[in-house]
Amino acid sequence: MTKQTHAFQAEVKQILHLVTHSLYSNKEIFLRELVSNASDACDKLRFEALDNNALYEDQPNLEVRVLFDAEAKTITIRDNGIGMSAEEAAAHLGTIAKSGTREFMAKLEGDQKKDANLIGQFGVGFYSGFIVADRITVETRRAGAPETEGVRWSSEGTGEYELETITRATRGTDVILHLRDEETEFLSTWKLKSIISKYSDHISLPILMQKEEWDQETSKQVKQDDWETVNKAAALWARSKSDITDTEYQDFYKQISYDQEAPLAYTHNRVEGRSEYTQLLYIPKKAPFDLWNRDKRGGVKLYVKRVFIMDDAEALMPVYLRFVKGVIDSADLPLNVSRELLQESRDVKAIREGSTKRVLGMLESLADSESADDKAKYLAFWTEFGAVLKEGIGEDFANRERLAKLFRFASTQADEGVSFADYVARMKDCQDKIYVIAADSLAAAKASPQLEIFKKKGIEVLLLVDRVDEWMLSHLYEFEGKELQSVAKGAVDLDKLLDDDEKKAAEAVAEGFKPTLDKLKDVLKDRAKDVRVTTRLVDSPACLVVDEGDMSGHLARMLKQAGQ
Ligand code: ADP
Ligand code: MG
Repeated sequence: MTKQTHAFQAEVKQILHLVTHSLYSNKEIFLRELVSNASDACDKLRFEALDNNALYEDQPNLEVRVLFDAEAKTITIRDNGIGMSAEEAAAHLGTIAKSGTREFMAKLEGDQKKDANLIGQFGVGFYSGFIVADRITVETRRAGAPETEGVRWSSEGTGEYELETITRATRGTDVILHLRDEETEFLSTWKLKSIISKYSDHISLPILMQKEEWDQETSKQVKQDDWETVNKAAALWARSKSDITDTEYQDFYKQISYDQEAPLAYTHNRVEGRSEYTQLLYIPKKAPFDLWNRDKRGGVKLYVKRVFIMDDAEALMPVYLRFVKGVIDSADLPLNVSRELLQESRDVKAIREGSTKRVLGMLESLADSESADDKAKYLAFWTEFGAVLKEGIGEDFANRERLAKLFRFASTQADEGVSFADYVARMKDCQDKIYVIAADSLAAAKASPQLEIFKKKGIEVLLLVDRVDEWMLSHLYEFEGKELQSVAKGAVDLDKLLDDDEKKAAEAVAEGFKPTLDKLKDVLKDRAKDVRVTTRLVDSPACLVVDEGDMSGHLARMLKQAGQ
């Protein structure tokens, strides 16, 4: 075939226009996209070669090479993958076959305001090369095709491309970017290496670059004949669990979290089914300084088929698990997924639900473990992150029971570590509610006069002294059918807790105090809703309580402090 000129499909023209005009601020992604295509091409060869081993020709080692020529101002991304026939080059590099892309375009064009934002996060694959290049030449030969059936595709990224037949000895593809004059910063080993390690470290194929050495005479870096692998070339999470040591898991955690300490726990799973993904999730030992910033993005990185997509993909984890670090690698999501699209994706929803369950499972296995070591680990976790986990009660309705089981409190019987289940197991026969009191501090809670009758009767009361506890109580009404009752609210129904004699005595006292009560009500009529004789006090003469539906004294004080 002699050189022929073809027009791009209309959508390609639009994409090219959008890409070159809108993606400029994030131009280095061209390398991620082209390396990812090269890696896909190798995956495809590996797959086709399952049935036809001859496709490997005499090159069984799949690899990607990135080279540049400072004088010619070119960067070449070379792979020995599947390659393309002339028809494939025309179809794949001249049209957009995927329907998803069309929808995405429609969306981009429909909503002008969002354009810049959406396109900024839209990896546009092959065409992103035109951000930095004013001409791209692709030289390729399909694996298994004769040398004479090589193809050269070339375009300036405007309206058309050229296609011609060439002779090409090696299978696979060279994508040659002829850089614009102002993009020569990319003609540097250091620059290219740093982009590769940022985006493509976990591509499981080796990415090779030519070694360089400093030449004293010319004061220049001079390229050597040997090549070195510049990426890590192995995605830890993609390897099988049985091949990974504990130290490797810990090193990887330190690398992604910048935490010096080892993690408290981790979980690594490959999930198959409607949604296919791998998760490697860690719980840190110590809370970061900005744990309380709910706007802070989570610590989970998103990969699609081992290609890095984004850091802190908050859609992958609920906010109350924002302390979790790790990687999720999806086999279903498109590489060009944006944060906006993540929020809407059903695959992402499935991933979030699955990952939440995994994290809760990890915590449960520590909390419920027979081993004292694990239990201590769980308490340490609770001290660091308990208050954040409590947010889940209002946020994650589906998991509220599991969450409530993980909660730990102080009580009148132990200063820490009391679960609802512990409490319920110690409940008295006459008792049908879980009694709680919220206060600013453990000391204040313990000194509360409202506890007197409970102490006397030997009934345990949970002491809630976390800032979020009051808020939590407004979302959590019961545990396993037992109502949560604040002892500082309303007329706590204590009748069931009293024996007959005590009841009689109480009635007699109430009768005797009637005149006093009437006087008090009169004096306090503007300042108290009601004045009652109570059985809840043993030593103190009086205490303040709030009405059932009202804000508790503790919450009122907190809001006042916050200036509300
Ligand atoms: P995507 O990778 O999402 O399919 P791209 O725009 O990145 O979209 O690439 C378009 C198509 O071009 C690919 O699907 C593939 O068929 C073809 N292609 C691109 N680069 C290569 C390559 N290095 N080797 C073989 N085929 C390629
Ligand atoms: Mg691609």
